[in-house]
Amino acid sequence: MTETTALHELTGTTPAATQAEWTGRYTGALMNTFGAPQRVLVRGEGCYVWDADGQRYLDLLAGIAVNSLGHAHPTLTGAISAQLGTLGHISNFFASPLQITLAERLATLTAGGSRPTAARTFFTNSGTEALEGAFKLARRHGGQDRPRILALEGAFHGRTMGALALTAKPAYREPFEPLPGGVEHLPFGDVEALEQAFATDGDRVAALVVEPLQGEAGVRHLPTGYLTAARRLTSEHGSLLILDEVQTGVGRTGEWMAFHHDHIGGGLTPDVVTLAKGLGGGFPIGAVLTLTEQAAGLFSPGQHGTTFGGNPVAAAAALATLHVIERDDLLERVRTTGAALREQISAIGHPLVAGVRGEGLLLAITLTEEIAPAVARQALEAGFIVNPVAPDAIRLAPPLILTSEQAQTFTDALPQILQKAANS
Ligand SMILES: *Cc1c(COP(=O)(O)O)cnc(C)c1O
Repeated sequence: MTETTALHELTGTTPAATQAEWTGRYTGALMNTFGAPQRVLVRGEGCYVWDADGQRYLDLLAGIAVNSLGHAHPTLTGAISAQLGTLGHISNFFASPLQITLAERLATLTAGGSRPTAARTFFTNSGTEALEGAFKLARRHGGQDRPRILALEGAFHGRTMGALALTAKPAYREPFEPLPGGVEHLPFGDVEALEQAFATDGDRVAALVVEPLQGEAGVRHLPTGYLTAARRLTSEHGSLLILDEVQTGVGRTGEWMAFHHDHIGGGLTPDVVTLAKGLGGGFPIGAVLTLTEQAAGLFSPGQHGTTFGGNPVAAAAALATLHVIERDDLLERVRTTGAALREQISAIGHPLVAGVRGEGLLLAITLTEEIAPAVARQALEAGFIVNPVAPDAIRLAPPLILTSEQAQTFTDALPQILQKAANS
C-alpha cells in the first residue's frame, strides 16, 4: 500500500479526484479521437477493474482482447519488473536472449508444432505496425511486377497509412486519402470473387491479407473452406498469404492461432502471420512472422526498423504470457468457458438476442434490434464492460482466465440489461 501511495505521489495523481473531475481534465488535455471516456479506471485485479469512484466492473473486453491474463497477474508483473530491473531497453543495434527466445517460441507456436527453417520474426509495438511490416514485405515480394494487394471488405488492419490502406472502412480511410495504392477490397467470404480476382492478372498479386475471423467488423466468420481456397489461389499465383491474427491469435479463440482450427484453416501454412493485442498480456508488443521460403528474406538490412520493437521488457512480458497460457492450460479453459458462455446466453432465450457467433473467448451476441450501444451503456451501469462492436452486436473478449461462474454473473444480469436498453 505504501508503494501505491508513493506511485501516486511521484506521478502527481495523488489528489482523490472524482470521475467527473478526471473526465473534465481528459477533454481539455487529450485529442478527441475516441470521444468522451466511458469511465476513468484506477485499478484492476484478475477479471475486475475499479473506477475513480470506487465502482467495480467485470471486464468482459480485456482492453480489446489484450489482457489475456486479466489485470495485475502476479507472474506477468513479476516478469516485467524483474526484467526492467535487469535490462530494460537496448535498441536493435544489440540483441537480447529474450527477444531471440520469443522469436523461436512464436515460430513454433504459429507453425503449430516444429519450427520451420524459414521462420523469421520482426517485433513491433502494436498491431498496426505489424501490418505495416507485412505491407512492406508484400511490396518487396515481386516489386513492380506485383503491384496488387488483395484484402476483404469489412477488414480492419490498423490506422497507420499502410495498415489503413488495407483497412476497408470508408470513415477511417477517406479523411486520409491518398493512401498507398494497389489495394483492392473483395466481397467478404466470397470464394468466387476471390477466384475472379486471381483469374486476370493473378500473377501480379503480391499478397492477400485476411483476418481468419473479422474482429472489428463484428466477429464475423469466413465460410468454411475460404482460407483453403485462399491458400490454393495464392500458391498457384506465387502470392503471399498474410493472416492477420492480431485480435484472434495467442489463445483468444481456444487454439494458439485461429487458423489452427480445422474448420477455419484446414491445416494450411500461411506465408506471413501478424500478432499483437493479446501477445504481451497488456504490455505493448506486436510481431510479424514469416513461415515459408517465399516470405523469408524479403527484407535486407536497412529496409525496415524500429527503436522499441522487441525490447527486453516487452519480450519478457510476452514470454511470461505464453508461459502462463501453457502452464495453466488456458487454451482448454478458453474452449470450456467460451462454450459455457454461449450456452448461458442461448439459455436465457431473450427475444432481443438473435444468437451468438465467434470462437473461444472472442464472441459477439447478435441482437434483433440495433440497440448495441444502449446495451453496452446499461451493462456498464450494471457493472459489466462489453463492447458494441456493431449496431446489432455486442462483442465479448474477456481475459482468458475468466471462469464460467464469472461469466454466469453477466448472463444472469443480461435480461434486465437488455430490457433497460430497449426502454431507454
Ligand atoms: C486491433 C487490430 C489491429 C491494429 O492493432 P493496434 O495495436 O490497435 O494498432 C490490426 N489488425 C487487427 C485484426 C486488429 O484487431
